[in-house]
Amino acid sequence: MAIIDTFTYRDLDAHRVGRFNFGINTSFICYRLQDTLIDCGPSNQWKYVKPFVEAKPFKQILLTHHHEDHSGNAGSIYQLSGVQPQAPDITIDIMNRGFKIPLMQRVIWGSADRVKAAPLREDLTIGDEAVAPVFTPGHAKDMTCYLLKDRGWLFSADLYIANYLKFLRIDEHIPTLLDSTRHALSCDFNTLICPHRGVVENGKKKLQEKYDYLVELSTNAQAQRQSGSDLLEITESLLGKDGMMSKLSGYNFSKRNLIRSCLDVDLSAV
Ligand SMILES: [Zn+2]
Repeated sequence: MAIIDTFTYRDLDAHRVGRFNFGINTSFICYRLQDTLIDCGPSNQWKYVKPFVEAKPFKQILLTHHHEDHSGNAGSIYQLSGVQPQAPDITIDIMNRGFKIPLMQRVIWGSADRVKAAPLREDLTIGDEAVAPVFTPGHAKDMTCYLLKDRGWLFSADLYIANYLKFLRIDEHIPTLLDSTRHALSCDFNTLICPHRGVVENGKKKLQEKYDYLVELSTNAQAQRQSGSDLLEITESLLGKDGMMSKLSGYNFSKRNLIRSCLDVDLSAV
């Protein structure tokens, strides 16, 4: 499995790649809007990303966060084109230091080279449209979405993906994710450009659904905790038992992580 899909949406070019075609969680969409690439795709798909990158000229690369499916080819594209990727300051630090990729993710996406990214330009634009970086930690501590207010688009990185979730990585944090989602929902957009799900029209409504789902899950988890249930009992009752996938990841990616993090949500603030 390699190139899964190529499509356009208005003036946006999109190219979905992935080693495994098990749906949106194992494939990644590289986007080009006018003169800009948004994220770089996983390194184990470089031979399929390269022709997409070479197909049209571009002047700018914007990274949303350091995760290997987003940054994996940043070094290769930099080397190929001479265009230095731009990234939020925290992402630059993480990419300079290098980061550990859990085995399961390395199998799905490959590795990520250390790359020296440049800070985001002030007065960031794509073509002649203004772009506002929207800092949205929670999924990753460095994650930033990019808002094109004039057209009502949000390049949403991994903020949305689906309107519910059942598993959480150990380094994700639901209270922070809820804060970030509220922040994003206060922005002016209607379409989400998601590197896993694709183009999501009525995206604000969908993101609100995900937010509401997580608040409800947190409310239910905390009610069960109050009645004396422990983490595994709450997890099983609300999401079902952790299966083989959680076990294989050493519970790095599991249902219990999601419930544990939901128990930390301050429900008076949501
Ligand atoms: Zn990510």
